[in-house]
Amino acid sequence: MAKHDSAESRKVYFTFDDGPTPEITKFVLDCLAEYEAKATFFCIGKNMVAHPSIVEDLVNAGHQLGNHTMNHANAWKYSIAEFEKDYWDCEHVFSKMNIKSVGFRPPYGRVSPFIYTTLRAQTDVYMWSILTGDYNASLNPNSIVSNCMKHIKPGSVLVFHDSEKAFPRLKIVLPALLDYCLQNQFIPCSL
Ligand SMILES: [Zn+2]
Repeated sequence: MAKHDSAESRKVYFTFDDGPTPEITKFVLDCLAEYEAKATFFCIGKNMVAHPSIVEDLVNAGHQLGNHTMNHANAWKYSIAEFEKDYWDCEHVFSKMNIKSVGFRPPYGRVSPFIYTTLRAQTDVYMWSILTGDYNASLNPNSIVSNCMKHIKPGSVLVFHDSEKAFPRLKIVLPALLDYCLQNQFIPCSL
């Protein structure tokens, strides 16, 4: 690390969408703990309701949680009213569990200009700079890792998925990237 690089300038942001998921979120928590890394989890409300003890584990481990809608709402298929209801249903789960949401990440990154404008007035909206593609079964985990290594830079926001679908790749990609961060003085942080 060059002398002028402050810790602040080496921050990268690991984010996990679509959980919490039994076993898989636990795997992520253990990996993060091993590297003393903090992350942000954009949770699906119905998964939080189904797995409150995992939500508690996330909070107790010092990670941040955000709203990813109640049912993984697709802004291209839902009406504006349906989409907003799904957002607020998830928000109510946060308030019932007494957890502060860091902000919103739209499922599929899909948001109409109207929704973006309306929701942005109410909350922070977080997209990403590096989509790992861990959910894509046709991708080789090693090529995901090398692609991420090529693009990661201070301030990068990486998106992973603590979901069943992504796990075959996530279980290889996540430890490899955490190790890469450690070797290259990147500091994985919550948003
Ligand atoms: Zn999602």
